[in-house]
Amino acid sequence: MKNKEIFDVLIVGAGPSGSNTAISYKNLNPDLKVGIIDKAIFPRDKSCGDAIGPGVINALKRFNNEHILDGEPEVISTSLFGPDNIGIQNYIPKVKNKDDSVVYVIPRYELDNRIFEIAKNLNVHSYEGVRYIDYEQTENEDILKVEIENSDKEKNFLFTKLLVGADGANSRVRKSLDLKQNSDIHKAIAIRAYIDSPNYLEIFKERTLMFEINVSALKGYAWAFPSKGNLINIGIGMPLNLFKKDKMDINEMLDSFIRTLESKGVIVDNLRMEKSYMLPFASSRPKLAHDKVALVGDAGSMINPMSGEGIFYGMEAGYLLAKETFGSLNSNKENNLNNNLNKYERALNKRFGMHFLSCTVARLVLQSPFMTKRLLKIASVDKNTINFVVELLFDEARLTIKETFSLAFKFILPFRTVRFFSKSPAFSL
Ligand SMILES: Cc1cc2nc3c(=O)[nH]c(=O)nc-3n(C[C@H](O)[C@H](O)[C@H](O)COP(=O)(O)OP(=O)(O)OC[C@H]3O[C@@H](n4cnc5c(N)ncnc54)[C@H](O)[C@@H]3O)c2cc1C
Repeated sequence: MKNKEIFDVLIVGAGPSGSNTAISYKNLNPDLKVGIIDKAIFPRDKSCGDAIGPGVINALKRFNNEHILDGEPEVISTSLFGPDNIGIQNYIPKVKNKDDSVVYVIPRYELDNRIFEIAKNLNVHSYEGVRYIDYEQTENEDILKVEIENSDKEKNFLFTKLLVGADGANSRVRKSLDLKQNSDIHKAIAIRAYIDSPNYLEIFKERTLMFEINVSALKGYAWAFPSKGNLINIGIGMPLNLFKKDKMDINEMLDSFIRTLESKGVIVDNLRMEKSYMLPFASSRPKLAHDKVALVGDAGSMINPMSGEGIFYGMEAGYLLAKETFGSLNSNKENNLNNNLNKYERALNKRFGMHFLSCTVARLVLQSPFMTKRLLKIASVDKNTINFVVELLFDEARLTIKETFSLAFKFILPFRTVRFFSKSPAFSL
């Protein structure tokens, strides 16, 4: 690595958020000098449910990169189970803000590498096996000096006009900014594993995302998501504060969920690659825009508190950041960059603030097994309710005042009355 490289943008972390940040800058201005460093060597695994929905497809389509999904099988429905084995299956409805109402389940080992490759093909300077350590201001007030270290612990420095922290849930860039991690109440712990199941599609009748709320994890949720062939991604998670309070064991929770799957007739073979990790929820976001530094993705706590989805929000944050700031990286106007970094933060809050708040409320409601049962019962006779839940999961739905009243009435009214006034039920399992 050459000394004294000066980048327009240096991104720490080549996950989906970091790679899409790089892709966005290079598409908006191919002349920018963009660098990306990652402590891992790609392809690398990442603990995840591996589900990507309409948002990620749209983010890829923006710069004509959706071809990386070619040949992947589409998931077409969700199956939600709650306490007392209440279950409902629903097709993924046409989401309002996106073109495609499908989901793909692609191991992150493959997906992240494909997105990173797009960035590399755009002439982004990439350094793998290189760890970010810290940064400092140089004498030139427009330039930051970034300390890095390779796998042999040899130190080096890079120079940049803008530093982007896309380094995930334990972000070191975030630490450099003296920002605390999310508190336990705004974080979840989850474990992911892979199994082979020759009969998953037969048991659930189709390629469906299975969610189980408040059962194997009494105050959280478990999932089984079908990928290619017999490969199924399974996992379970719950809010960290409750996990600690109830002195839970994440491996035992996974075992319990496997027993539930088996009790439904699902064959579970070759359990492997169990890996747990933290999910920083967007219910508590740190300041994202700083002096010549910005945070995107998990580093900036952008995970949907209801679904655990984070890939889309991180990729979209990278795009919003590039869109608001690419014009100020070649100009000499003072403070222009910092003003535009603030614009990025405002644009992200405008786009997702109410949606994140709605998902936080939904998460708190669904933390109660009673409310989960009630919701699933209502949803089993009322398609509007289940569509709204699925839009919170896969789109950018918000709880408007009208929506809140309508849902509150459905919770309060006797079940028979709800059924009488409802149209086209989802089908119960
Ligand atoms: C169990 C589990 C299940 C989940 N399921 C889903 C799901 O189904 N769908 C979904 O959308 N989201 C899911 N999420 C959330 C999703 O995984 C994250 O939101 C997503 O990975 C965020 O992407 P990112 O690029 O911000 O961070 P990451 O994907 O974590 O990438 C960060 C990168 O930074 C690198 N890095 C870290 N520190 C340094 C350093 N000091 N120097 C250099 N490089 C560094 C890492 O090596 C890594 O490559 C799940 C999370 C968990 C834990």
